[in-house]
Amino acid sequence: MTAARSLTTVAELVEAGLVPEARRAGAAAVAARYAVAVTPSLVALIDPADPNDPVARQFVPDAAELVTLPEERADPIGDLAHSPVEGIVHRYPDRVLLKAVHVCPVYCRFCFRREMVGPEGLGTLSAQALDAAIAYIAARPAIWEVILTGGDPLVLSPRRLQAILERLAAIPHVKIVRFHSRVPVVDPARVDAALIAALKASGKTTYVALHANHPREFTAEARAAIARIVDAGLVMISQTVLLKGVNDDAAVLADLMRTFVENRVKPYYLHHPDLAPGTAHFRLTLAEGRALVESLRGRVSGLCQPAYILDIPGGHGKVRADSAAVEEADDGCFRLLDFRGETHLYPPRQDEA
Ligand code: SF4
Repeated sequence: MTAARSLTTVAELVEAGLVPEARRAGAAAVAARYAVAVTPSLVALIDPADPNDPVARQFVPDAAELVTLPEERADPIGDLAHSPVEGIVHRYPDRVLLKAVHVCPVYCRFCFRREMVGPEGLGTLSAQALDAAIAYIAARPAIWEVILTGGDPLVLSPRRLQAILERLAAIPHVKIVRFHSRVPVVDPARVDAALIAALKASGKTTYVALHANHPREFTAEARAAIARIVDAGLVMISQTVLLKGVNDDAAVLADLMRTFVENRVKPYYLHHPDLAPGTAHFRLTLAEGRALVESLRGRVSGLCQPAYILDIPGGHGKVRADSAAVEEADDGCFRLLDFRGETHLYPPRQDEA
């Protein structure tokens, strides 16, 4: 089926055949708590007859989201602890996140910022807050890279994006501007010449990190949107979340990584799913994830190998989940060494959660 606009209510999802009547009440309870949006491109991609459709699983609300485990947390990667001014997350010395908007074209059921994004979320930065965020970056010469994330920054109009990029272009020590977005696959028509032009900052290098989790997301329209970005001279890298029931399969992962490379998107990060509330049904154990990633070695070209990353709960930064910094401890627990040399247990103990 083709929808004229994004579906944002359970009634619309039921009508489109994406939520069976028997699951309506559960989905409605989820939608009362977390944002819902499925774009027309995704509606067309989902097979309503397949109860295990990997695209539906990512976007259609499910009653399993109502179960929150004790170790899950509203701010799983600790953004707030590293937010010196509104809209900025400064966790590492040489880079900051700039969260200009907390709205997305779709709402992923496993989202690690699900308590912050959505129509009821933190919204768009006010003009004053944006001024303060830009001033924070301008005052810190160590900041080499600015990562626009959110929310999905590509939902902003080209005019607003261009205004932000012009201000970043005027900061000499900022050399790299990176966008994190799902738009090229979930709303490819949005990627037009005006949007692409707005992503460039004079004298800076722009990277676009494309978030995609299953090879089916690469429709002809999505591939064309990606080609428009790369042809315009922007560099594309990938990010994927390892998700039970979506891509926790060596053949699917290999296909996905090859599809990125074939579309001139260099595989960058494969994220272990975060401890976001109501997402336990998506989470593999770290041991399972490590075994899957190990199975990619030798199976696919080195070009297709992403870094397998775990964001250490509590805001301690990222660790390579398949490296010596992650050591198996007792009872299925792992000891993680963060970039500051401190050790953390994963999953975290209750008193750390
Ligand atoms: S696009 Fe990103 S920020 Fe938005 S819901 Fe999906 S994972 Fe969350």
